[in-house]
Amino acid sequence: MPPIRRQDRQSTEHLTLEERQAAVIADADVLVVGGGPAGIGAAIGAAEAGARVVLAERHGYFGGCATAALVMPLMSYHTQYPSPRLAGAETLFPTDHGRSGGPVIGGVLRRFVDRLVKRGGALSPSEATGYVVPFDPEVFKTVALELLDEAGVEYLLHSFASGVLGNSNVEGAAFEGKSGPVAVTARVTVDCTGDADLAASAGARYVIGRERDGAAGPMSLMFRMVGFDRDRFMAYVRAHPEEWFGVHGLVELVREATLRGDLELHREDILMFGTPNEGEVLINSTRVIGVFGTDVRDLTAAEVEGRRQMTMIATFLRKYVPGFQDAYVVQSGSVIGVRGTRRISGGYTLSTEDVLEARKHDDVIARGSYPLDIHNPAGPGTLMRRLPPGEAYDIPLRCLLPSGVDNLCVAGKCISATYEAHSSLRAAPICFATGQAAGVCASLAAQRHTSPNDLDATDVQHELVRQGADLRGVV
Ligand SMILES: Cc1cc2nc3c(=O)[nH]c(=O)nc-3n(C[C@H](O)[C@H](O)[C@H](O)COP(=O)(O)OP(=O)(O)OC[C@H]3O[C@@H](n4cnc5c(N)ncnc54)[C@H](O)[C@@H]3O)c2cc1C
Repeated sequence: MPPIRRQDRQSTEHLTLEERQAAVIADADVLVVGGGPAGIGAAIGAAEAGARVVLAERHGYFGGCATAALVMPLMSYHTQYPSPRLAGAETLFPTDHGRSGGPVIGGVLRRFVDRLVKRGGALSPSEATGYVVPFDPEVFKTVALELLDEAGVEYLLHSFASGVLGNSNVEGAAFEGKSGPVAVTARVTVDCTGDADLAASAGARYVIGRERDGAAGPMSLMFRMVGFDRDRFMAYVRAHPEEWFGVHGLVELVREATLRGDLELHREDILMFGTPNEGEVLINSTRVIGVFGTDVRDLTAAEVEGRRQMTMIATFLRKYVPGFQDAYVVQSGSVIGVRGTRRISGGYTLSTEDVLEARKHDDVIARGSYPLDIHNPAGPGTLMRRLPPGEAYDIPLRCLLPSGVDNLCVAGKCISATYEAHSSLRAAPICFATGQAAGVCASLAAQRHTSPNDLDATDVQHELVRQGADLRGVV
């Protein structure tokens, strides 16, 4: 049976649901909804700032895209002094990072990476990894539980937030799940759903897609292949240096397979990453365009199309690419990776220039050094635009506070930013950092019985620095 086709949204019929009772199962100082990189950062940041915290997540584990969608390298959070792209570089990690000027994110992220490495589930960022952190998603899930437990966070899994309590003066959230509807009340709520689900339900203004035409970034179903013969692949790369640039390439083989009718891609090349595990690669080469992550009919169609592309790419790799002859798909994302949907309209909207000119702001609560990384929403092509050498940009607290809504902070990939700026700040390490900041802001507001909008940014900065965040010495 094919997926239900997307219908004209305007003509969709509506009916009114009956009112239902929801059991109030917890009351928290801070409720964090969504347990991806931002939600983990928020819950730990809020708890360490002294709040009683409940973290709710729709899946049965934490990690968000990092685990559910198999987005397995944490992109670089180091400043960079780029070197020319190295054709034929015999690596499965980025080759264009050059020398590092050091990390710009500390706090929860640093502790998380340290623990991943200690548990044997990640490689430390170094010149050899192109300053990315390749990790194993199963170890990531376990480390998330360890660190949340150590911080004293209470959590609720299998709970999908269907809306806020209290409309624009948010008082918690309602959840759907196997128990029927339940509610968690809270003084301050942090929306880390990646889609600003709660902000939208509270009536906050938001933008979806590219400003000029509403186009949404493409989705990708990621998958891991094992049985990969790295030595054979590298021997091929040595013999064809123009075919490989560390994490992407094989343009000639893609072209040949396309001409023969063996491949039909919305990209011009293959993108894949090494992992900490021997004989394994992570393939990030499916590209599903023209779909929106806030529409279940689009998501359904995207899952089906992503799986079709995955099968075709795996067959292509086995048939055409040395080193893949005995490789097979061991796992695909349990959900397709959605790069972006809603971005809230906050007190400040981070712009392209903020990123590319590495601008500084007095109310900085997190920093980023990852380039703009814009995947063409309409077909082949990815545009990378880098920051000046050795530089990082500031993310102001105002980007986390939705206009017109109270007692709600937002963190992660759906904060207030332009489409282009979002392509940088959605990198998982930056989401950890904005999450920790939103958690601290929510925690201080809850304990002082005040609104996050009325907090002094300096107080948030002081607590973040106490927790190990890197705010370039502003406080
Ligand atoms: C295909 C793809 C490739 C990428 N590549 C990289 C990369 O190589 N390196 C990198 O650093 N970044 C990469 N990114 C970006 C990065 O993975 C994400 O932007 C980042 O994970 C966002 O973190 P988040 O916490 O804001 O959201 P998410 O990771 O999406 O987490 C949101 C969490 O909220 C939960 N949730 C959502 N709605 C609800 C609800 N209503 N109720 C309860 N729970 C809910 C979800 O289940 C999820 O656990 C990639 C993203 C994609 C999609």
